[in-house]
Amino acid sequence: MHEQNYTDFAQALVDWFSEQGRDYPWRRTTDPWAILVSEVMLQQTTIPTVLARYESWLSQFPTPAALAAVDEQTALRSWEGLGYYRRVRSLQAAAIAICEKHNGEFPRDEAHIRALPGIGDYTAGAVLSFAYNHPAALVDANVSRVFARLFNDPTPVDSPSGRKKHWQLAAQLVHPTNPRAYNSALMELGQTICTGGTPTCLLCPVRQYCTATAPEKLPVKLPKKAITELEHWDIWHSCDQGLLMEKQPDGKRHEGMYRLPRREPAELQNCPHICDQKYSVTRYKVTRHLFRADSACPRAGECYIPWSQLQHTPMASPDRKLVQKYTPKKN
Ligand code: SF4
Repeated sequence: MHEQNYTDFAQALVDWFSEQGRDYPWRRTTDPWAILVSEVMLQQTTIPTVLARYESWLSQFPTPAALAAVDEQTALRSWEGLGYYRRVRSLQAAAIAICEKHNGEFPRDEAHIRALPGIGDYTAGAVLSFAYNHPAALVDANVSRVFARLFNDPTPVDSPSGRKKHWQLAAQLVHPTNPRAYNSALMELGQTICTGGTPTCLLCPVRQYCTATAPEKLPVKLPKKAITELEHWDIWHSCDQGLLMEKQPDGKRHEGMYRLPRREPAELQNCPHICDQKYSVTRYKVTRHLFRADSACPRAGECYIPWSQLQHTPMASPDRKLVQKYTPKKN
């Protein structure tokens, strides 16, 4: 695409979006907190999953002050099913910073927004453009794919040079007076028409500006990291005091959350096997072997959680599924 077409391109996208843009709850608001929550949820979680949780989560925490006021365990528990729990920790850290440094009012100034914990380039661009209609650049995987094709560019989109190029392009192309609609349109084009694999170019509102010669071969990406297989041996041990769980220490992936206690396979030779559970986390394929332990001495970090408190105890989805499945029904 030639530079003299940038303005027309941006306007064509905005026009298309005003007629065909999809309706989401986060597009009906200009509340920066609600927009920040949606953006954080949408990182690494699918739109249908976010749609199922977004409004109920926001009704629990409608303001930064509401999230800042609860303990970390409550915040983690509220995020169950969405995964990637560091996101809710960052969100809570941002909420606390908003309360402490801005009297609970979401900042409007770009430098103050960028200074909030967990706010990177993408999230800053999203809040600035969607909440304040500020012409801020925004690049996600959909936008990168669209740019690679529009400019017929074989630079790997996930390489430092690819990223730098796309952020520069995003800043040059952003609609000067309607960045809110433009940034939504750009992402939506990548989600619905300029999709991965073979795009639907016939329906594309900006095809006249596109220079892709073989769009199905773009974008180019760096080679993926290999999948790593992991195997764990865990125990299910309960007594009158409840279920034995292990709290994840600071610095661990699920810091502050609970999981079924881990053991070495040799320790479980005489324990009945309950089930095998398989799940994937990022580039790991995990197989967990669960055994029933009739006796167990709690180790460092392990404690009994009363049955009545288990539903309020934060834990990752694989653990929640096992706890729900094997908790005695009468308790
Ligand atoms: S014409 Fe095709 S490849 Fe080009 S931006 Fe539109 S959908 Fe993508």
